[in-house]
Amino acid sequence: MERSANLCRIRLRFQSRPGDVGARRRRGDRPRGDPCVGATWYLRARGRDGGTDHARRAADATRVRTISTDTVGARAAMSVEADPAVALTRELVAIRSINPGGSEAECAHHLGDLLARAGFEIGYHDFAPGRTSVHAARGGRAGTRRLCFAGHIDTVPLGDADWSVDPFAGELHDGKLYGRGVSDMKAGIAAFVTAAVALADRLDDGPGLLLIMAAGEETGCEGSRPLGGELAARFPVGAMVVAEPTYNLPKVGHRGAFWLRMVSTGKTAHGSMPELGVNALYKASRAIAKLEDFDFNVARHPHLGGNSLSVGNLHAGRNVNSVPDRAVMEVDVRTVPGVDHVRVREGFAQYLGEDVQSIEPFVDLDSVWTDPDDPFVQRVFDLTTPFLGHRPEVAALPFFTDAAVLKPAFGEVPTVILGPGDTHMAHQTDEFCVADRIPVAVAMYRALIEDWYRVAARP
Ligand SMILES: [Zn+2]
Repeated sequence: MERSANLCRIRLRFQSRPGDVGARRRRGDRPRGDPCVGATWYLRARGRDGGTDHARRAADATRVRTISTDTVGARAAMSVEADPAVALTRELVAIRSINPGGSEAECAHHLGDLLARAGFEIGYHDFAPGRTSVHAARGGRAGTRRLCFAGHIDTVPLGDADWSVDPFAGELHDGKLYGRGVSDMKAGIAAFVTAAVALADRLDDGPGLLLIMAAGEETGCEGSRPLGGELAARFPVGAMVVAEPTYNLPKVGHRGAFWLRMVSTGKTAHGSMPELGVNALYKASRAIAKLEDFDFNVARHPHLGGNSLSVGNLHAGRNVNSVPDRAVMEVDVRTVPGVDHVRVREGFAQYLGEDVQSIEPFVDLDSVWTDPDDPFVQRVFDLTTPFLGHRPEVAALPFFTDAAVLKPAFGEVPTVILGPGDTHMAHQTDEFCVADRIPVAVAMYRALIEDWYRVAARP
């Protein structure tokens, strides 16, 4: 109780000095769930209107300073609950869109209906029955290029462990919003949709906005892959923001993904006479042991590190008393820019020799990288600095996003990955997102959209 009150006093004093707030955040980059933090961040975000609403911000700051700490805590909880982007996140979490094994159609139509009501042109795209992606567009003067926001609406399954909360109820506890897909990445989708709807009436006269909410990302960008070319032909895009979970810190790239199915074959025989067969499982086991020591022999990237390799599964054998004649393993390889996937595959074939008979890729996504000196990246760094309280550092992500297919489709446009979710909560049991980061993301996205329009309006 005492500690909490102190925190509140500190935060309230910092209210008019955003740089100080960030100095505290930088140490962990992960705001705590205490309600005082929530109140300060929420009110700062609400008061901000593209950096122009100084009077309202000042009024918010004054109001915060004059109320008691208990009231601040209660108000924060209420404010976050009433926030439209948090409310939309909870609606999206309640719509199951598990992949594999589910459908994104209901989620896509929920977002499409909402954006249609705000005057956006909507298009639905099914890459398979019920596997629906949706795009929304508004504005787009001839000769200009749109700002694109992208994300995925599918989630991974719940996993085998029990959850301590209902994964589809959008429960809010201690400033954390729980649910499958809340961080990865329904909060990010809700944030950019909320920002776009709030600015909808101002979007017609300008370069335009394109929103992409894709199905099937978790299993290798299945939804965005056919979508990219089609949308690129209709909507010239100038830059892209992918709202994957980054704690609201902009990232300039991620590694590529090269998923391989490796098959070892043998000869079946009775389990009591194994000398008459060739055990495919033994061959696969030898291959796996060798893979653990595989050296990609690639120079480390300053921000993405090296390539990585993980054997994800191994299937072999049907019954205990037969020698298995086929073993299949799937290998997850992540690659840094400059790595040729064809060469990686050839390297595995040579290295594993007779222990593996075939190596076939089933996901092949290049890495993503935008030069941090690119003017759009620098603009994103400028515009997010007041919200973060410090200038972002150049950084990248270990996992892939839809940018792997959308960025090349749009002509290698500068791309930033920036979203409110917790990176480390992705795919976890009891997944959560710190709720007050969601309205901050909305305010950041609004600032980016308004800036994109301002820059395009310059002669
Ligand atoms: Zn994701």
